[in-house]
This record gives sequence, C-alpha cells and structure tokens, in this order.
Amino acid sequence: MKISDIYRDKKLVFSCEVFPPGPEVEIEQILKTIKELKTTSPDFVSVTYGAGGGTKSRTIEIASKIKKLYKMEPLMHLSCIETKKEDINKILNEISQNGIENILALRGDTPGDRDLKTIISDFSYASDLVCYIKSHWNDFCLGVAGYPEVHPEAYSMEKDIKNLKKKIEAGASFIISQLFFKNDFFYRYLDIIRKTGINVPVSAGIMPVFRAKLLNKMIKLSRATVPSELIAIVDKFRDKDKDMEKAGIEYAVNQIRDLTDNGVDGVHLYTMNSASLAKKISSYSGLR
Ligand SMILES: Cc1cc2nc3c(=O)[nH]c(=O)nc-3n(C[C@H](O)[C@H](O)[C@H](O)COP(=O)(O)OP(=O)(O)OC[C@H]3O[C@@H](n4cnc5c(N)ncnc54)[C@H](O)[C@@H]3O)c2cc1C
Repeated sequence: MKISDIYRDKKLVFSCEVFPPGPEVEIEQILKTIKELKTTSPDFVSVTYGAGGGTKSRTIEIASKIKKLYKMEPLMHLSCIETKKEDINKILNEISQNGIENILALRGDTPGDRDLKTIISDFSYASDLVCYIKSHWNDFCLGVAGYPEVHPEAYSMEKDIKNLKKKIEAGASFIISQLFFKNDFFYRYLDIIRKTGINVPVSAGIMPVFRAKLLNKMIKLSRATVPSELIAIVDKFRDKDKDMEKAGIEYAVNQIRDLTDNGVDGVHLYTMNSASLAKKISSYSGLR
C-alpha cells in the first residue's frame, strides 16, 4: 500500500523507525524486534540506510521482510550521495521485485564527515533523486526529510524550505521531520511550510531520550535544541538508568500528547530498535 493513501485515509498516522544492526549482529535480532513492534500496529515501519549506503543489502532485506514476513508496510530509506544512476536502478529493480512501494528519498551524509565538495555523485540533492525516481519509476510513493530547526548546511530557514518545496514539486508526497525536543519548533515550521504552499502531510519525528549518554549523540546527529527541562532530567538521572528511562519516556509521551492534541498528521517514532520502548510510548500517549 502506498503511504500517501494511508495519510489520506487516517486522521493520525503512527510510524516507527528501525535501523539495520551492524554485520556482527545476527539479522534475527532485528527481526524479533520488528515482530514485537507489530503489536503496536504501526501504519508503516521505516528502515534507515547507513551513511553512504553502508547498510544497503541489510536495509533491503529488512524492508522486504517487514512486507513479506510481518505483513506491515515498509518505508525504505534511500540516499543518493556518492551514487550513480545505475546503482539506483539496480536497487529500485530489486526492491520493486520485493513488493516495496515506499521510499524515503534522501541525499544522505557521508561516512566519517568527508568534505561534500570532494564527493562525486550523479545526484547533488535529494530533489534530484526524487525527480529521477519519479521520471523513471512512477509507481513508487516517495517521502522526504524536513528540518524543524533548519538543516545544518542551509543558509536560512527560508532557503531550506524553498529547497523542501523543490522535493515536493518533484513528486514527493509526504515529509518526515528530523527529531526535535520542543514542539514549538515543529509548530513554527509547519506554519511556515503551509504558508509556502507545501500541503503534503508532515509526520513529527520523536526520539525518546531513554539513556543519558544518548543525548549528546542525538544532538550531534540532529543539532536539535535541548530545552532546560530536558537537561535537568538528564542531569538528575544521569547515573540511574531505570529512572532515566522512565523520565525519558514520560518526556516523549508529553511531546506526543501535545502534538496529537494539536492535530498533527503523524508521529514518527525513532525506536532505537527497542520494541518495548515503542510499546510503552505508543500505549501511554494514546497513539495505540
Ligand atoms: C527523517 C529522516 C530520516 C533520515 N534517514 C537517513 C538515512 O536513513 N540515512 C542517511 O544517511 N541519512 C538519513 N538522514 C539524514 C540526512 O541524510 C541528512 O540530514 C542529510 O544531510 C540531508 O539529507 P536530505 O535528504 O535532507 O538532503 P537535501 O534535501 O538534499 O538537503 C541537503 C541540504 O542542501 C540544501 N539544498 C537542497 N536542495 C538544494 C538546491 N537545489 N540548491 C541548494 N541547496 C539545496 C538543503 O537546504 C539542505 O541544507 C535522515 C534525516 C531525516 C530527517
């Protein structure tokens, strides 16, 4: 099923994200997590694509199993950095044979933060990938990434949103947001993009801070602003894992409740491959 149809039919779309484990970990481990995630009835499950395509075969395998084995709708992330059109053709051929209909089209980042100027690729931006897929494979439904606190490379919010609009005009049908810890950033973003004439559904990306040491990693990845309230929680429970998990879940649940009260199109939960976390959050927040 196309994810655009899910957004059309449902008032609130709940989705989960998983990432492929490293090669040293058996694939069965993530499959077990996905089987458990099914109990939360997500509308779709997205699978990340390692920086520079590092997890390509596992991403395809996991997304295919989500569809065939667990009968849920997969959203496969696909980045185009340092990628040739032939590589994209091969991947799209393979995933279409596996029944995957939905792709999150990304530019991606390079492994090890290499200088972008030194990278040779057939695609400069995610909008080029959207355009390429739409003109050669019109049967895929495409989503793209959005940044409530502005993409780190963008000159300004205004320019970033102009670039977001290019992705939508090229044929993307929905947006999934970068994680944020303060809902006001998301509401302000939504307000600007709607005024810019972008009318596709936008899911809010929520990542629970369930371990104190995760916070720095999350900030480095997303550059999200951390409100003083969350800093205080992390400081208080830094050495108390159980209490930190409880407080982190509560923080995420409060964010989600406020988002759903404000009528968001969807909530996309970055599960960190923890089904138990997803179960607690989806149930306490009333998503499921
Ligand atoms: C929901 C979500 C999921 C993600 N999943 C993954 C994943 O699985 N694998 C992975 O490697 N990374 C992932 N990322 C990270 C993402 O790849 C990085 O943030 C990357 O730096 C940008 O990718 P993009 O698709 O947003 O790029 P783009 O939309 O191409 O934007 C990149 C930058 O270029 C600018 N820009 C865009 N078009 C133009 C233009 N025509 N002219 C000038 N400037 C332009 C934008 O304003 C922005 O600053 C994800 C991010 C999000 C929010």
